[in-house]
Amino acid sequence: MQVLVLNSGSSSIKYQLFGSDLQVLATGLVERIGEEAGHAVHRITGADEPTVEDAVVPDHASGFATIVRALEQAGLGDELGAIGHRVVHGGAEFTAPTVIDEQVLERIRAQVPLAPLHNPANLTGIEVATELRPELPQVAVFDTAFHAGLPAPAYRYAIGDDVHRDHGVRRYGFHGTSHAFVAKRAAEHLDRPLEELALITLHLGNGASVTAIDGGRSVETSMGLSPLEGLVMGTRSGDLDPAVIFHLIRQAGMSPDEVETLLNRRSGLIGLCGDNDLRTIESRAAGGDQDAQLALDVYVHRIRKYLGAYAAVLGRLDAVVFTAGVGENADGVRRRVCQDLELLGIRVDDARNDGVRASAVDGGVAAVQAADSRVAVLVVATDEEREIAEQTLVAVGER
Ligand code: ADP
Repeated sequence: MQVLVLNSGSSSIKYQLFGSDLQVLATGLVERIGEEAGHAVHRITGADEPTVEDAVVPDHASGFATIVRALEQAGLGDELGAIGHRVVHGGAEFTAPTVIDEQVLERIRAQVPLAPLHNPANLTGIEVATELRPELPQVAVFDTAFHAGLPAPAYRYAIGDDVHRDHGVRRYGFHGTSHAFVAKRAAEHLDRPLEELALITLHLGNGASVTAIDGGRSVETSMGLSPLEGLVMGTRSGDLDPAVIFHLIRQAGMSPDEVETLLNRRSGLIGLCGDNDLRTIESRAAGGDQDAQLALDVYVHRIRKYLGAYAAVLGRLDAVVFTAGVGENADGVRRRVCQDLELLGIRVDDARNDGVRASAVDGGVAAVQAADSRVAVLVVATDEEREIAEQTLVAVGER
């Protein structure tokens, strides 16, 4: 049975088609939906060249139809048995992948106030896929689900229970599929049961978060009510004093929407130095650019602060795991994050770390710690789509 995994954004749909052994049969992307000129790329496994279509894609329904057509043209999709959807926010409601029916759809809609920037697009993806392929089970896999078992001291903010209860104000955590996936891969690599391990997983992509995992369970994570809290990200500020928001509203005359856009789209690395691509920032810093150097310094400092805090939360530590675009590729960031952390038992071997890119390593896992490091330092290629495909199969009872 094949599984199609969809990740629907506000103007794009990313997809991967998996075969019955979870081998990738096709991947692709439809973007600039609703804009003057749409763009779609379909890569069929085994084909020499990707198929590229430049045509207007007026809405998500046409975007999904484009995907179905491309798969059919490649002779794929006949054995499609389920569609797995990435859904960013499951609130406190959803703790596991869930087969979608009208009632579930309603409950996902009810989470929109918690994730106004993400859930509406995910919902649109579900709606168009259901309309075009009503006979297939559609499964929602939530970014929040892995963190659903956070203990109260980790998920509660220090505000009244009425605010928590009435308005859902608590830590939910995100990137759960990625943290869960790399934790499993780390345990396999260490050849130890996940249930025994204390891990800190660093998902450093454009969005970034860190999770403390004890015995396979998320016990603390840096993103909160929304993906805005925690680490410095490409365009998001991460942690700041909540009073900054009132200050900007009162003193700078900004509206709540303007502050939201500032903190989500124009802060983090791009706010500090004008770029959000870490490769560009690294090369600017290497050329002596002070703003780029400061951006890198703030970025690394924040990660180190969390590493120390999460080591204390766990009380023990077997491995630190680096993943996503920056974690998998930026050896300089890994080196700086782990520098002078002997007190936590962490020591990286520069010769092993230099130039390591997770996707280029056999099995997608590389160990870069020094021989005498008490804690393993692993670079792991994440694969959220595969994890969503697997969880989709579990939800429909195929695993
Ligand atoms: P997203 O959250 O959009 O999925 P990714 O996980 O793809 O993001 O990560 C994007 C980030 O990874 C960008 O900042 C990019 O600069 C960085 N990155 C990718 N490749 C490298 C590399 N070789 N060296 C340094 N940074 C890299």
